[in-house]
Amino acid sequence: MSPSAFSTPAMSSGWIRILRRRFPAFESLWQEFPDNVFLIACDRDGEFWLADCNPAQQAFIGLPAAQTQGRRVRELVAGPYRETVLERYRQCVASGRALTYEESGAIEGSDAVYYWMTLLVPAHGADGRVEFILGISRDVTALHQAENVLRLANEELEQRVALRTAELEAVNARLRQIAMYDALTGVFARAHFFEQGQDAFRLALEQDMPLSVLMLDIDHFKRINDRWGHAAGDGVLRLVGARLQTVFGRTNLVGRCGGEEFAVVLPQQQLAKACWFARQVCEAVRSHAFMWQGEHIPCSISVGVAERMADDASLEALLHRADLALLQAKAGGRDGYRQSESQHVDVARFHS
Ligand code: GH3
Ligand code: MG
Ligand code: MG
Repeated sequence: MSPSAFSTPAMSSGWIRILRRRFPAFESLWQEFPDNVFLIACDRDGEFWLADCNPAQQAFIGLPAAQTQGRRVRELVAGPYRETVLERYRQCVASGRALTYEESGAIEGSDAVYYWMTLLVPAHGADGRVEFILGISRDVTALHQAENVLRLANEELEQRVALRTAELEAVNARLRQIAMYDALTGVFARAHFFEQGQDAFRLALEQDMPLSVLMLDIDHFKRINDRWGHAAGDGVLRLVGARLQTVFGRTNLVGRCGGEEFAVVLPQQQLAKACWFARQVCEAVRSHAFMWQGEHIPCSISVGVAERMADDASLEALLHRADLALLQAKAGGRDGYRQSESQHVDVARFHS
């Protein structure tokens, strides 16, 4: 029997009854099915009628069957959800196809919101028009609530992870900062100095720009330690670090290579200017007395200077030449500088 045989909502209700009577299994299904099942009659004027519904649906509506069957859907659905429900039915009629969607709704007078997964299946008449819609709605409210609990827990977890990540990043930044500088003298620590220096060397090579370096070593530092103690030696190292920063400023790279040895990279500076710096720094260390427990500790440094040449394959090669010049400064009596033997320029004009 085809639904098209019926033209009114009242008759369609009879159709479902016949179906239920003819097929005992269908009757059992209809009675026992835990989800809401309903039959909607669609008239030619675009009105939708509740033709029939199973006991589960009836129980949800909460009214006796006599008060719901054969009534317009718009009279049965609570106000805020009415248009949405009718729009779905219209969609099903217009497309002539089955439709699945999730919907929400509430019973009049209650705050509790329910969620359903709904399937609408259209039944066409002989003329192809959709005459009935068979609907099944599964209550997924509990699933929704569980999803909400999970979502909230996830959000909370994400917030905690974000917070921990931010804390770790801050600690990492602090550690990076600590690793960059030598704790005693305040100049760059060895590894960071070489990293920065190599970048500057590469840039100078690429752009064919001058770059000079200085190697510096405190004179007779062991004697200072021996005579005034290790703490006094540390004080001298701190003082020398401060002098180097004052003389070389921020545009040049100053690093502690180890012990009482320092190195400086002067980007874009030629040998003559590097020698000028060497003289300045010797003067600055010599003339600023270090006082220790009321005593004046004399201090001087020796410096080796070199400018990048085509032969210098790396920063280390260039520093090595400066180191050789430093040895000569030591051999020459200390408290002064020497330039790398491979390079000789007149630096007098820079010494004014
Ligand atoms: P030169 O003029 O030839 O360079 O002689 P020097 O005594 O300065 O050189 P030497 O290499 O013989 O001694 C360097 C000393 O520096 C030995 C070491 O104990 C001391 N030293 C290295 N690091 C530190 C430090 O961090 N603090 C102190 N107080 N002393 C240090
Ligand atoms: Mg020394
Ligand atoms: Mg030394």
